Formats: sequence, C-alpha cells, structure tokens
Amino acid sequence: MPGEVKCMVEECNHNQNKSCHADSIEVRSNGGKKVNSTGDTCCGTFKP
Ligand code: SF4
Repeated sequence: MPGEVKCMVEECNHNQNKSCHADSIEVRSNGGKKVNSTGDTCCGTFKP
C-alpha cells in the first residue's frame, strides 16, 4: 500500500511494529448502526 498505515492492532498478522503491511485494507462500520466516531469503524482485513 502506498504510504504508511499505522495500526495499533498488533494481534493482526498484517501488523509489523504498529504498521499495516497488507496490500490493501477494507474499513467497515462496526455493526448496523450509523457511524459517528472512530469507535464505530473496524478493519475487515484483520487476519488472526
Ligand atoms: S489489516 Fe487491518 S487490523 Fe490488520 S494491521 Fe492492517 S489495518 Fe491493522
């Protein structure tokens, strides 16, 4: 991915030193409700 994507989810297989190394990511709403804050979003590319 061009540029750096910082990510604090160190449990993800794509994460190296709090940086995402996936080719691309997909960000989704976290549940069915209307999104109003960062907490309402989640990464759909997370790999355990
Ligand atoms: S895929 Fe998502 S959760 Fe995993 S390191 Fe990248 S941004 Fe973070």
